Amino acid sequence: MYRGYYRRTKKPPANILEFRTGYLVKILIVGGGIGGLTAALCLHEAGHEVRVFERASIFEDAGAGIQLAANATRVLDSLGLLPKLNNLAVAPESIDIREFDTGNLLYQSPLGAAYQHRYRAPYYHLHRSDLLETLVAELLRRSPGSLQFGATVTKYTESAKNVAVQLENGVIEYGDCLVGADGIRSSIRTQMLGNTPVQWTGNVAWRGVLDATQLDDDFMGKVVTNFVAHKKHMAVYYVRSQKAINFVGVVEGRSWSNDSWVQKSPYKDLKADFSGWNKVVQTVIELTPVDQCYRWALHDYQPLDRWSSKRVTLLGDAAHASLPFLASGAAMAIEDARILQRVLEGFDLSNSEMLSQALDKYQRNRLSRTARVQKRSRQAGLLYHLPGRLIRRVAFKALNMRAGENESFLPEYDANTIPLV
Ligand SMILES: Cc1cc2nc3c(=O)[nH]c(=O)nc-3n(C[C@H](O)[C@H](O)[C@H](O)COP(=O)(O)OP(=O)(O)OC[C@H]3O[C@@H](n4cnc5c(N)ncnc54)[C@H](O)[C@@H]3O)c2cc1C
Repeated sequence: MYRGYYRRTKKPPANILEFRTGYLVKILIVGGGIGGLTAALCLHEAGHEVRVFERASIFEDAGAGIQLAANATRVLDSLGLLPKLNNLAVAPESIDIREFDTGNLLYQSPLGAAYQHRYRAPYYHLHRSDLLETLVAELLRRSPGSLQFGATVTKYTESAKNVAVQLENGVIEYGDCLVGADGIRSSIRTQMLGNTPVQWTGNVAWRGVLDATQLDDDFMGKVVTNFVAHKKHMAVYYVRSQKAINFVGVVEGRSWSNDSWVQKSPYKDLKADFSGWNKVVQTVIELTPVDQCYRWALHDYQPLDRWSSKRVTLLGDAAHASLPFLASGAAMAIEDARILQRVLEGFDLSNSEMLSQALDKYQRNRLSRTARVQKRSRQAGLLYHLPGRLIRRVAFKALNMRAGENESFLPEYDANTIPLV
C-alpha cells in the first residue's frame, strides 16, 4: 500500500475529474471484458496500480455488434476514447420498431444530433472487437504490462492485510482490492456469495456480423431496426462506418440442452425461425454464411442485494447480468467502472475498514440502478414478443405517448458527475 496525491490544479475544477486527492492502491481485476477494461482505465487514470487477468488468449464472443447509449459513451468520452471510436462507430438516426413482415412502423425514437445535444454524448453502434481492441490498446499505452491474457483466476483469498488471486498456473498475485469483472458465470461471485441461480430464460439469440458493402443503398437507413413478432424479434443495425451489418434474432420458448452457452446451429433453423419476415431480414439471412450460424442461450439472474466483501467487489455482468433487450448490460458495466473509481476517491484506502466502507458505498450507489435495468430488460422482452398485430399496435402507441419518460432514464445518468450517496 502506498500513499500518493493526485495533481491539484490552481484553477477551480471544470469537472469533478480534474480535482482529486486520495490514497492509491493496487487493484486486481479478474476479467478483461468491456467492464474490466473500462474499470482498469478509470482506476489507472485516478492513479491506482491495476492488474487485469483475462482468461482468453484472444477475445471470445467478439463477433457481434453492440449498442451504446449516451450513459456509456459519456464515460468513454471522459477517458479520451471518442476520437478513436468515432472512426469505427455508426451513430444511428433513430431506433425504429417495425412489424416483422410488413415492416410497418410501430414506434420511433429519434437519436442523431438532437439526442447528442440533449445528452451531451452520442448513441453508438460498434463492433465488439473494435471496442475491446480500443480499450486494450489504450490500457496498454497508459499502463504497459497491466493486462495479462491467458490468465485464468481459480480463487481468491482476502485477509486484513491484502487480497490474493491464484492463477491456474499456480502463480499468486497480491493486491489491496479485487474487482470481479468475470461475467455472468463469475467464479468470484460464486466464491463470495455461493451459487447464484442463473436463470435460463427460454430465449435463444442468433447473432452475426456481415459484410454490408454489397448492399443496395436503399437496403436500410442509418437506423437500428427492431422487427417484432409473437415470441420473436430481430434487431438489425450497421457497425464499422456502415461497412458491416449486425443482427440479433431472438426466439422465445426454446429448450437448450447443451452445456455450452453458444452453439453452432444449422442454417436451415435460422431460415425457418424467420421465414415469412420482411426483405431486410431475408437479406440478412441470405448474407449469413451457411457454416457460420451461431445461437446463444440467454440467461440472467435476479438482482442481488449485495456484491461486496471487505476487499472484494463485483462489476458488470458478474454483479447484475440482464437480458439484452434494453441493450444496456455493457453500459451498466461502464457506469460501474466510473462510479467505483469515484467512490474510492473519498476514502483512506490504507485503512482496511475504510476500504470495506468504500466498496459498500460503491454497491449502494449501483444496486437500484442496475436492478432497474435487469427488470426493465425483461419487460422489454415481453413487449417485443407480444402476440397479434392489434395488441402490438396498441402497446407501441402507448409507448410512443410515454416516450420521454421511457427513454430518458438510461442516457441521462451521468456516471462522471452524478452525486454519490
Ligand atoms: C445477444 C446479446 C446482445 C447484447 N447487446 C448489448 C448491447 O447492445 N449493449 C449493451 O450495453 N450490452 C449488450 N449486451 C450485454 C453485454 O454483452 C454484457 O453486459 C457485457 O459484455 C458485460 O461485460 P462484462 O465485462 O461485465 O462481462 P463479459 O463481457 O462477460 O467479460 C468477462 C470477461 O471475464 C473473463 N473471465 C471469466 N472468468 C475468468 C477467470 N476465472 N479468470 C480470468 N478471466 C475470466 C472472460 O473471458 C471475459 O472476457 C448484449 C448481450 C447479449 C447476450
